[in-house]
Amino acid sequence: MQFTRLRLTGFKSFVDPTDLVIADGLTGVVGPNGCGKSNLLEALRWVMGENRAKAMRGAGMEDVIFAGAHSRPARNFAEVALTIDNGDRLAPAGFNDQDQLEIVRRITRDVGSAYKVNAKDVRARDVQMLFADASTGAHSPALVRQGQISELINAKPKSRRRILEEAAGISGLYQRRHEAELKLNNTEANLLRVDDVIEQLA
Ligand code: ATP
Repeated sequence: MQFTRLRLTGFKSFVDPTDLVIADGLTGVVGPNGCGKSNLLEALRWVMGENRAKAMRGAGMEDVIFAGAHSRPARNFAEVALTIDNGDRLAPAGFNDQDQLEIVRRITRDVGSAYKVNAKDVRARDVQMLFADASTGAHSPALVRQGQISELINAKPKSRRRILEEAAGISGLYQRRHEAELKLNNTEANLLRVDDVIEQLA
């Protein structure tokens, strides 16, 4: 799976529709201070399901919507679309029936976020799992923000291990295991309740 295109509308400083072609290999973003380099990286994390406003440098998630500047009024929504080439058919099951995937996240003021994959409504969790299974996502070590290299060098072994696990592609399995544990706990609680009811009836 290869990222091929990123489209932003009303996202942070990208008020006008902006289309970026992502070429093969390593991509670096350069430009003067304040031109929106970090905003671009955040858009990529955001469309992959980032749900922490702090990671977007905001107090609330609606802070990603263009807030207005000079003569331009604030926008009511922000949208980011990420196109992925799935010609090699490596997308996780459920998303693997097309050569190209377009993941769209839109946030509307007072409404919240909505996600689509190839124009079909999906849940945030579906998008997060899609990227986790493909060994990438909002927390992927492949997205290197400013200062991250020195953070990595100074990181505690536990944080460094998390990065290695992401790179090894097992973070999706951890998420699935966690969900399975939650289901197991619920089922055990239900069984206890059934035992209680049977005891009362006996
Ligand atoms: P530096 O090199 O200094 O780190 P940068 O190129 O990474 O800068 P960003 O931090 O991506 O730049 O962009 C900062 C700009 O984005 C600022 O001008 C800020 O006002 C603008 N900005 C951030 N959020 C919004 C928003 N919601 N609406 C409008 N503009 C925004």
